[in-house]
Amino acid sequence: MSAARPVLQRRRLLLGGMAAASLGHPFLQLNAQQQSARELFTLGVASGSPRSDGVVLWTRLAPDPLQGGGMGEAPVDVRWEVAHDEGFARIAAEGRATAVAALAHSVHAEVRGLAPGRPYWYRFTAEGVRSPVGRTRTAPADNDAAPQPSRFAFASCQQYEQGYYAAYRDMAAQPFDFVVHLGDYIYESSWGSRHVRHHQGGIPTQLGEFRDRYALYKTDPHLQAAHAAFPWLVTWDDHEVANDYTDDVSPRTIDPAQFLAIRAAAYQAWYEHMPVPASMRPTGAAATIYGRHRFGRMLDVFLLDGRQYRSHHACLAGRSASPLADCADRLSPERSFLGKKQEAWLANELAAPPARWTVIAQPTLMAEADRKRGPEHGYWMDGWDGYAASRARLLDSLAANKARGGDALVISGDVHAFWAADLRREPQGPAVATEFVGGAITSEGPSAANVANLLAKNDHLRYGRGDKRGYAHMALDARGCTVEFRAVEDEKSADSAVAPMARFAVERGAPGVHLEAT
Ligand code: FE
Ligand code: CA
Repeated sequence: MSAARPVLQRRRLLLGGMAAASLGHPFLQLNAQQQSARELFTLGVASGSPRSDGVVLWTRLAPDPLQGGGMGEAPVDVRWEVAHDEGFARIAAEGRATAVAALAHSVHAEVRGLAPGRPYWYRFTAEGVRSPVGRTRTAPADNDAAPQPSRFAFASCQQYEQGYYAAYRDMAAQPFDFVVHLGDYIYESSWGSRHVRHHQGGIPTQLGEFRDRYALYKTDPHLQAAHAAFPWLVTWDDHEVANDYTDDVSPRTIDPAQFLAIRAAAYQAWYEHMPVPASMRPTGAAATIYGRHRFGRMLDVFLLDGRQYRSHHACLAGRSASPLADCADRLSPERSFLGKKQEAWLANELAAPPARWTVIAQPTLMAEADRKRGPEHGYWMDGWDGYAASRARLLDSLAANKARGGDALVISGDVHAFWAADLRREPQGPAVATEFVGGAITSEGPSAANVANLLAKNDHLRYGRGDKRGYAHMALDARGCTVEFRAVEDEKSADSAVAPMARFAVERGAPGVHLEAT
């Protein structure tokens, strides 16, 4: 297999390794042995879906990452180790996995038997080569006597061509317990006004093309650093498959059967590149990725799938969701953003005794947003406004959750801007939950005029910024929640400074945005 690796490819990868080494990040510093590891573990290492007793470890063997991976057809034995310390003096768990061509030689090792609320370090060995070391952290004990504070980052929308991942460089250096990714991890299409780097190939429709697109994104050293520093919870939005798709309909691919074949390839490649358990492996065009993630009695994160099951766009007759519209259909109780089954599951979960904080992690702005200039009303049908009754049912569940002593926060991506919003069941009613949209890692945002118009027309949108890229940091304890929006000064530069842009508080028992500092 190694004889087949082209010389040019090898040189490029070594240069990539040197670039990563110069970052100085502890999880990407390369010694002589790891220099060769870079040729097998070119996409880094990751962990995800943390539980109180374990975590999923991920890597993918890919000596030729941008051209199919370069591993051939043979299965490869991979050893994984989890240690109490960065030097691997005390091993906590170890095991083996088989990386197979059918899964692009990816590894999803589900580690159990770890202690709650603790950091661990992990690494892989394959073909006598060791991977870089990753750090992860288990969730607190499920029924912890003293609920532990929780601090995490959330991010979305990282169009590769539109910028470098300075936001991830900053994130990797912070003391987070975990990271939530809310979708648009890859983009299937090239768009935006100023590119600093380029996709290869056009819009992917085949499995191999989606694999190469994920590999391109995952060669980025800052993205690798953020994966290596924390366990991630991941959901998807539309661009992992196709812009503005809804269930089996895509504006770009009219025939549903043809689109479902694309969706199957896209879901498969997503699974192969994410630190998620085998239970999320797709069967054809279907994959169950929504679920509850418990962080002791402090926090339940409900990770939702807003794409696979949703009703087709209202008011648009199958066209792109971009033009603003309004019609009675968007209010129809038959319509669902989550699909009947996921919606029923979530309502049932929210009817159980709550953790102190309930975080609804989902792709897009949940607050109503009248976007039309002037006195008329206009809504974006790809967002929750196209599924108003479905949103009302969820807000009813969150209000009932609050009545039982829980406090709900909604975290969102997709709209390439930072927003803080009071979520109300009626326009003048009290807030039942508080929403934060954490900007985009790189993807271009709305104009200042659009943001100003939204703020002017929608009272419950309390803060909005569309001119900066970045991510958000949420900290929860028994008294309250704080959220910090962190902004990248210039996403066109990998070395860009990243700094706090705004800070908010939410009190326990009193939903609603309190702006503390800008
Ligand atoms: Fe996006
Ligand atoms: Ca999106």
